[in-house]
Amino acid sequence: MQPRDLSDHVAYEAGRGIEEVARELDRDPSEFVKLASNENPHGPSPAATVAIREHVSGMSSYPKAAHADLVEAIADRWNVAGEQVWLANGGDGAIDYLHRATLEPDDAVLVPTPGFAYYGMSSRFHHGEVAEYPIERTDGFEQTAETVLEAYDGERVVWLTSPHNPSGSTIPLSEIERLAAETDEETLIVVDEAYGEFAETESAVALIEGRAGYDARDDVAVLRTFSKAYGLAGVRLGYAVVPEEWGEAYTRVNTPFAASELACRAGLAAMDDTEHVERTVETARESRNAMGEGIEAHVWPSEGNFVLVEVGDAAAVAEELQERGVIVRDCTSFGLPGCIRITCGTDEETERAIEATNAVLADLEVTPGAQAEVPDT
Ligand SMILES: *Cc1c(COP(=O)(O)O)cnc(C)c1O
Repeated sequence: MQPRDLSDHVAYEAGRGIEEVARELDRDPSEFVKLASNENPHGPSPAATVAIREHVSGMSSYPKAAHADLVEAIADRWNVAGEQVWLANGGDGAIDYLHRATLEPDDAVLVPTPGFAYYGMSSRFHHGEVAEYPIERTDGFEQTAETVLEAYDGERVVWLTSPHNPSGSTIPLSEIERLAAETDEETLIVVDEAYGEFAETESAVALIEGRAGYDARDDVAVLRTFSKAYGLAGVRLGYAVVPEEWGEAYTRVNTPFAASELACRAGLAAMDDTEHVERTVETARESRNAMGEGIEAHVWPSEGNFVLVEVGDAAAVAEELQERGVIVRDCTSFGLPGCIRITCGTDEETERAIEATNAVLADLEVTPGAQAEVPDT
C-alpha cells in the first residue's frame, strides 16, 4: 500500500531557523540573528500575547464565537460582508480553500516565477496543473498585465503577489483590473497581499468592493495573513477576501473550525493594536532603506519587509553569512541562484546584516552582477 503518485510534488523549503542552524554548526543560538523568513522583528503584538493567556482555559471548546468575532472585525476593516471573509489556517490555508473552490481535476493555475512555492504545491494537491509566467529580473521584476497575459492560456486561477516575494515589486490596481477584464470570465485573479501592510499601494480589495473609481468585480480575490506585519506566524492565521458572489462556497470547502480559538483571539487583539503594526511597518521602511543604501551590491527597491540582493553566488554568500551569525534566505530555490533575500530587522539587526554582507562580499571577492547572464528560471 502506497500514497498516490507524488512524484510531481515537492517539499516546501522554509527559511532556516536559529535552533536548527546553531545545532548544525554546534554553536550557541544567541550568536545568531534570523533574517530568513520575513517574520516580525518586534515579535507579536503584546495585546495578542495577553489575549492568548486570557483565553487559554477556553481551549477545550470549539472556536465558534471567536471565529465569528474575528470574521466580523475583518469584514468591518474591509467594508465587505462576513461571508466574503474566508478565515484559514495561515495564508497558506486560504490558498488551499481558493483551490478547493475553483479547481476541477486537470484545471490549471498560472503562477509567477520566481515566486511563492505554495501556489503550485496546493494546486497539485487539488489535482490541478501548474503553468508559470515570468517576472523578469532584467526588467527589475516589473509586474504588468501584459507580462501575465503573454503567458495566460485560459487557466482557472491566476496568482499575483503584490508586494512580490522575493523581489518586493508591486503591481498597480489598474493593471490588475486590466488583467481581470482581459482574462476569461471563468478565471479568478488572486492577489496575494501577504506583505500588503508594508506597501504604499492600495489593496486590491478595492476591486472586489467597487471603490476608488473601480466597478465591483466578481473575479478578483485577495489573500492576507497575520504572519508578517502582525507577528503571528506561529499561530497560523490568514484569510481570503472573495467577491460577494463567492461567499456561500466557504461553508462547502472549509475545514471545520479553520482557525483555532487561540489564533482567533490573538488575531482580534492584534488587529486592535494599530500601534504595533505601525511600528512594525516603520521599522521595515527604515531597514530596507538602510540596506538599500548600505549594502555594496545591487539591492532592488522593495515594498515588503525584506530586500532582494544580487550577490553573485547566493549559496556561498548565504553560507558564509550564516557562519558569521546572520541567517538569510538563499534564493536558489526561487530560481534566483545569484540572489539572497534579507528580512528587515531592528536597527541593530539591520546594521549587523549590512556589515556582515559587505564583509562577506569583500572576502569572497564575488562580483555581484557577474551572474546577469544566468536565466531567470
Ligand atoms: C508568508 C507568505 C504567505 C502566507 O504565509 P502564512 O504564514 O501561511 O500566512 C503567502 N504568500 C506569500 C507570498 C508569503 O510570503
